[in-house]
Amino acid sequence: MNDINDPSSGSGRFDLSRRLLRGGYIEEIEDLTPTSKRMRLAGPKLTGLNWQPGDHIRVRIGSLLTLRTYSVWDADPDRGWIDLVLFDHGTPDSIGLQWAEAARPRQYVVFMRDARAIRLKPDARWHLFAGEETAAAGFGSLLRALPVDVPVFGVHQAATEADHIDLPRPLTRIARHGAPAASSEQLVAAVAALDLPDTPGAAYLAGEARTIQMIRGHLVNDRGWNRRDIVTKPFWTPGKRGMD
Ligand SMILES: Cc1cc2nc3c(=O)[nH]c(=O)nc-3n(C[C@H](O)[C@H](O)[C@H](O)COP(=O)(O)OP(=O)(O)OC[C@H]3O[C@@H](n4cnc5c(N)ncnc54)[C@H](O)[C@@H]3O)c2cc1C
Repeated sequence: MNDINDPSSGSGRFDLSRRLLRGGYIEEIEDLTPTSKRMRLAGPKLTGLNWQPGDHIRVRIGSLLTLRTYSVWDADPDRGWIDLVLFDHGTPDSIGLQWAEAARPRQYVVFMRDARAIRLKPDARWHLFAGEETAAAGFGSLLRALPVDVPVFGVHQAATEADHIDLPRPLTRIARHGAPAASSEQLVAAVAALDLPDTPGAAYLAGEARTIQMIRGHLVNDRGWNRRDIVTKPFWTPGKRGMD
């Protein structure tokens, strides 16, 4: 995956390539935790693509118009593969879950690139991340792209201690132990408990929509953050199918 300062990001050629339909074969599926698995898609159509940290794809699930969005956890354009991390949220009758459970190596997966990516703020002196399992999948490529001497803070929430995937840079881990992931006071409290620098940083909040709003409210109202330093990306919310 490319460096955050790659000047080719945002070029017309890159923007055009984003809209094209892509596809790849499932090369491997690995259980990362009891509730998350890594899926590698590979093939000739995936070579030479200019993936950027924070990119997402929209996967065709079943019928032509049914899509679900997943983050690109890692990518190797030279060898022609991308990795996704799929979280089993356990909601019955979810077609994304059914697709992930039925997926087997050698199946062909059709997807398109999603232009609405999360981008790192390159001038920030430090970075704050907060979210649950789905957000952790999205944070992976962003954390990997940050230089090691740039400070990183944040909270990674999961159902239990065993459900945290290993992130490229460690965040504070908390477990819900049965509490809901939606409107999560627990995640807000964990962010509020962080000892953060006094200088301005950049924040990336992803996952459940209402929880994100609550954390942003805390940063703005209690810590005096400027809204433009906060990147929010709702991935799901109760009762809504697909967040597109
Ligand atoms: C930009 C973007 C990037 C994303 N990246 C990833 C990723 O890398 N990995 C990943 O696993 N997911 C990711 N998601 C989230 C994923 O697209 C949604 O969880 C999606 O709704 C799953 O589809 P589904 O068919 O399983 O469930 P749906 O049929 O869409 O939803 C059925 C029910 O399940 C609930 N639900 C959906 N997701 C969750 C959840 N996480 N926890 C609890 N309840 C849930 C919904 O609110 C709804 O009530 C991303 C979403 C977006 C928008």
